[in-house]
Amino acid sequence: MSENSFYRDYDVPQDLQFRTADIIRMGGLECTAQLSPKYFQDVFEAPNKITKVSVKLSFSVATNEILVRGEIAGKRQVQCARCLKMTEQDFAEEFLETYSNKAEIIDIMLQVRQTLALTEDIRFLCKPDCKGLCPQCGQDLNDGPCGCKPVNLSPFAELKGKFK
Ligand SMILES: [Zn+2]
Ligand SMILES: [Zn+2]
Repeated sequence: MSENSFYRDYDVPQDLQFRTADIIRMGGLECTAQLSPKYFQDVFEAPNKITKVSVKLSFSVATNEILVRGEIAGKRQVQCARCLKMTEQDFAEEFLETYSNKAEIIDIMLQVRQTLALTEDIRFLCKPDCKGLCPQCGQDLNDGPCGCKPVNLSPFAELKGKFK
């Protein structure tokens, strides 16, 4: 019998709003939950998105506060900054947070969303040497050369377009 089985009957709220009084009454809590990705749709900027999330939580009750250790795991889809291809990745993150035992609700959802938001990599590359797209015809240069004539841009030509 594992030490967690004592808590098996506890109904983990899908929105991860835990009542502080429940946690104190139980003298702590260990639980796991599979969460709907709908709670995380807006955490990453489109088209990047989180597609699967599960959490493992451990609440410890101290004199004036409740310590929460969380492990978050799941899947996300991220776009390559150069060739725009989508890649699916596994991720795993951890957090450690303390909450006052006087607050009515311990909002773990906020913590999970914040932890995940910090992991978004807007400069993600599908591979370190991704060749990207041809700026003229849009072909994925990882699939081979497109035949466009290379344009010689001066260092200022690129900047010009950014200041209108
Ligand atoms: Zn790429
Ligand atoms: Zn081209």
